[in-house]
Amino acid sequence: MIVQWPNKVLRMKCEDVLEDEFGSDDLLNFLDMLGSIIAENGAAGVSAPQVGVPKNIVILGKNVITLDSDHLFAILNPRIVGSKDTILTNEGCLSFPGLMHERERAKTVVVEFNDIDGASRIHTFEGYGAIVIQHEIDHLNGKIMVDDLSPVAKKMKLKKWIKEAEKEAFQESIKPIKEGVQL
Ligand SMILES: [Zn+2]
Repeated sequence: MIVQWPNKVLRMKCEDVLEDEFGSDDLLNFLDMLGSIIAENGAAGVSAPQVGVPKNIVILGKNVITLDSDHLFAILNPRIVGSKDTILTNEGCLSFPGLMHERERAKTVVVEFNDIDGASRIHTFEGYGAIVIQHEIDHLNGKIMVDDLSPVAKKMKLKKWIKEAEKEAFQESIKPIKEGVQL
């Protein structure tokens, strides 16, 4: 179940995966669950807080990264250790259904992280991959994609989105009644 804004977990600073958790059944099952969310939603990535778990865990879709490991796409305890150039993006987020946001991101980022067994790894993400990993790492730090806006602009954008989402939900809810009118 995806956690949606304004759930407070989306503003939490997440905790690292600990030494004794690496490689555990609990961790593997959790990663599987995140993987199925990516598959179901056709998403490029998802982070643990988006299912209500404030841990430093990201799963990336298969088109985003390829690493020489059995567990290709789990990024644990990531840290951005370098970045270069900028790129304009138009991002969506499973936690903000229907909202799109244009912003700048770094075009290249170097990320240090642990793999599923706790080994240290480093990977350079470029372009699309860089956008995805920056978006997901922001989630781990309690940041949302519109945080680049000024407080006023952000408030307006989110207010408009919530209003539109409510309108859509309302129209969905009255549809069966409309269709049910047979007179
Ligand atoms: Zn997101």
